[in-house]
Amino acid sequence: MGEVIHNPGDSAGPVHEAAAVSTGSLPSAEVVDDALSAAYARFRDDASGRVADYIPALAEADPSLFGLSVADVHGSVRQAGDASHPFSIQSISKAFVFALVDQALGRESVRRRVGVNNTGLPFNSILAIELNHGSPMNPMVNAGALATTSLVPGADAADRWDFVQQGLSRFAGRELKLDMRVYTSEAGSNQRNESIARLLDSYERLGWDPIQTTDVYTKQCSLSVTTRDLAIMGSTLAAGGVNPLTGDQVVDASVCRDTLAALATSGLYERSGDWLYEIGMPGKSGVSGGILTIAPGKGGLAAFSPGLDPAGNSIRGQRATHYLSGALGLNLFASAPHLRPEVGTY
Ligand code: GLU
Repeated sequence: MGEVIHNPGDSAGPVHEAAAVSTGSLPSAEVVDDALSAAYARFRDDASGRVADYIPALAEADPSLFGLSVADVHGSVRQAGDASHPFSIQSISKAFVFALVDQALGRESVRRRVGVNNTGLPFNSILAIELNHGSPMNPMVNAGALATTSLVPGADAADRWDFVQQGLSRFAGRELKLDMRVYTSEAGSNQRNESIARLLDSYERLGWDPIQTTDVYTKQCSLSVTTRDLAIMGSTLAAGGVNPLTGDQVVDASVCRDTLAALATSGLYERSGDWLYEIGMPGKSGVSGGILTIAPGKGGLAAFSPGLDPAGNSIRGQRATHYLSGALGLNLFASAPHLRPEVGTY
């Protein structure tokens, strides 16, 4: 499993070697454009992975689709390939619903009720709940996402859905619409998520009715986005909660920090460690093939390609993001050897 995000040759390429260390902002638009074109060309013919088929509507996805977008914190968006192709946001919604609930309820309350530790188990694991005495563990697996959605404020189902849809739309800077085909398809084959919600309810870990919670969760996963939308949503998290297009302060800067910490531990499920090791930034994937990566203070990177690894993460998305992280100097853990001229050596 660990091999899938390694790129052949494994260097960002000669043009971008100088950018190998994280700096204060994204490189210029020209450098971003070059890196996007190079990433697109490099992986355009990579057909690795399998399209998700446990949700019938997702099984129809065209595996040749491949889009990339990078948005900086000033509102500039650069892209390559199928960046305007719509797809359902799926699990990437979990990051933003978590942010909205963290904002509404406060970080300690959400941490106590949902948790922020990795499970080491698949995204829809029931075993993880049992092993942890009913704790949903973290907001990025289905159990924790259902627990988070159950905490969304609102008098009834319509109010709660409105809170989620409006909130995610503010992150995107435009009104996000439900993909009814995906919603109907997932709602009709949702027994496992309903079971997870009922199990959490039996442990008194839900703040609302399990079936209604699962329905709002299924709707949030069915919101239609493009990589352009995701990159802007990510750049809002990168910019202390201010949407770079609208200037709207969607959540507090402290909420962005909490959300990115949760993504760093669990954004790519049981592959989150491999992801941090390779890419060095918080990210979130979804089973329709999207991956969003956030460079704090700098911007958001989004990739879309439906072929998945066994954990449910887009393979081409991981490879392209790995390339871009190196090419744009975004790995948060990278540093240069510290020159010590006073002793004439490193
Ligand atoms: N709606 C999907 C589910 O709950 C999301 C899973 C994912 O994207 O990882 O099964």
